[in-house]
Amino acid sequence: AKQAGKRQVARLDGHGEAAPIVRNALIRRRLPEAFETRAFTLHYQPQMDLASGDRSAVEALLRWTDPVLGAVSPAEFIPIMELSGDILRIGQRVINEACAQARTWLDAGTPRRIAVNVSPLQLAARTIVPDLVSALHRHNVPAHLIEVEITEGAAITDLPRAIGQLQQLREAGISIALDDYGTGFSSLALLRSLPLTTVKIDKTFVDNIDSSPSDALLVGGIIDTAHAIGLSVTAEGVERPSQLQLLRDLRCDTVQGYLVSRPVAPEQLSQHCDRASVMSDSRSIRGAK
Ligand code: C2E
Ligand code: MG
Ligand code: MG
Ligand code: MG
Repeated sequence: AKQAGKRQVARLDGHGEAAPIVRNALIRRRLPEAFETRAFTLHYQPQMDLASGDRSAVEALLRWTDPVLGAVSPAEFIPIMELSGDILRIGQRVINEACAQARTWLDAGTPRRIAVNVSPLQLAARTIVPDLVSALHRHNVPAHLIEVEITEGAAITDLPRAIGQLQQLREAGISIALDDYGTGFSSLALLRSLPLTTVKIDKTFVDNIDSSPSDALLVGGIIDTAHAIGLSVTAEGVERPSQLQLLRDLRCDTVQGYLVSRPVAPEQLSQHCDRASVMSDSRSIRGAK
């Protein structure tokens, strides 16, 4: 029976026919071992500054390859960890690992700012400020090398609590981006009341800007609004040169997406950036049609 069970599990990987509820249960069952064996790693995706071509800022994204399930996307396991409470544990590890990586890059003479995704539950549990401050201290990393990415959900349950903690992060020198903008309430009031530095426009809006004039107008409106209140704008999920050109015309500040680079392991990133100069890279992307 144990053998048969194992075979069944092996078939129900990401490419199999497992119903979502089964897949969900399998992920939950594999999590304790994944924590024990430290199976989670961070990959990094560069963000390109459109004015300078600089690509030194990156976003840290969790990766998990399980011996039974294969690669499991954070889009699958993060919501499960939010239900189980594991999100606080993994969140703490992500922060620590990102600061350790920031230190490694500083020592190598290639400083990079790292954006870290933070779950609403980390704000609700009030763990984010002490976790970040102690990790920065532990690895002797200046705060300007860390950015925190939050979603609207983080502010909605308890706005004063969210503002208070984000304010403390800002005062420490950490920048704050509002992630996935456009997928939730897209509240202007929230944009104004949170102590943000950046708005990240969600991929679903960026997807069609080069074919849908109304989407382009909408993104242009978000960019102008963000600029009017002093925020910088990053577009995520940029895959085609035609999207990049439009975003440039709409005065977007920064782009992130497969066109610039997929998320990669930290060693691949340094190779990638050492090989080609940032400016010539930017020009080749600009020139591509
Ligand atoms: P996100 O923060 O909005 O991250 C962007 C996602 O879009 C990433 O998916 C990235 O790999 C993907 N992406 C970037 N550029 C492109 C593109 O040009 N085309 C396409 N098709 N996709 C692109 P990923 O890595 O699967 O992460 C999914 C989500 O999981 C993230 O969305 C974030 O909400 C969450 N997540 C990832 N790492 C962490 C973490 O450390 N902590 C928390 N709390 N959440 C995380
Ligand atoms: Mg993000
Ligand atoms: Mg995002
Ligand atoms: Mg997103």
